[in-house]
Amino acid sequence: GGHLLEVRDLHIEFRTTEGVAKVINGVTYHLDAGETLAVLGESGSGKSVTAQAIMGILDTPPAHIRSGQILYQGRDLLTRSEEQRRQVRGKEIAMIFQDALSALNPVFPVGWQIGETLRQREGTSRADARRRTVELMDLVKIPAAAKRLGDYPHQFSGGMRQRVMIAMALALDPKVLIADEPTTALDVTVQAQIMDLLADLRRDLNMAMILITHDLGVVAGVADRIAVMYAGRIVEHADVRSLYRVPAHPYTKGLLESIPRLDVRGQALSTIKGLPPNLMRIPSGCPFHPRCPYVQQVCVDVVPHDLVLGDGRTSACHFAQEVRDDSAR
Ligand code: SF4
Ligand code: MG
Repeated sequence: GGHLLEVRDLHIEFRTTEGVAKVINGVTYHLDAGETLAVLGESGSGKSVTAQAIMGILDTPPAHIRSGQILYQGRDLLTRSEEQRRQVRGKEIAMIFQDALSALNPVFPVGWQIGETLRQREGTSRADARRRTVELMDLVKIPAAAKRLGDYPHQFSGGMRQRVMIAMALALDPKVLIADEPTTALDVTVQAQIMDLLADLRRDLNMAMILITHDLGVVAGVADRIAVMYAGRIVEHADVRSLYRVPAHPYTKGLLESIPRLDVRGQALSTIKGLPPNLMRIPSGCPFHPRCPYVQQVCVDVVPHDLVLGDGRTSACHFAQEVRDDSAR
């Protein structure tokens, strides 16, 4: 059987007056019903752009989808009619963003905004919409939901606004929720609460989730698998435990080594040297080579393909085996 959602060999560029930025360079990943895939990478790695392509909010210049497929239940969203796509996007696949405040309309009460999403479904009466709105607000654990229907976005805290946005995303019972940096704008305590909520929802609703983040620290308790992105490619893909325990790509290894550890006092943090590449001039061979502690001449000359390391994990590194052995030491 096929996957619920599958991105296949996607290539996207941004054509600007300064040149062509190659933002997505052959991304392939899949998502099965009920599972959570974390897509991890620095800003500019292409993790949000891939999600925007899935949601169909990348159909205008300067973005240009050069090639690839985005299969939902086996059908390519990129070649379906506008009407067919509308059926899927926002309903079957919903998305939440980092900034709840700008995603919500400041001049309408939140109850009305959630109800408006519900009323997109034919035959939903005002009374149905109201009842379901309260249910959704309860589901995302907004206290005294029925009393807050008439409140405006600015009357909620940042964390509560993020819950309102999640309630809106859940209004049409999506099978897939894409969460793009859902906790980045929040303080640490609230971040943990929102991640807990997402983990509960995903379990209770048996919903599949793509969690996009730059923060390895937030994915451990939530995700089943991780795809690590760099310069518009997936450089490592593995189940969460294997990836944390024994990273097999130097970039992932660097990310893990730069997480502050509470259990090691005064530990000097190692960070990955250098900066992510300019996507108008991606380095030859392996795009990570200018920053890589394992670099050899072959890395400069030859683009590494995915090396399959068993258990379905892959690493796009000429020395994946060596890096993994080194990590296991
Ligand atoms: Fe480093 Fe070479 Fe592997 Fe790229 S291919 S990550 S440069 S060792
Ligand atoms: Mg982003």
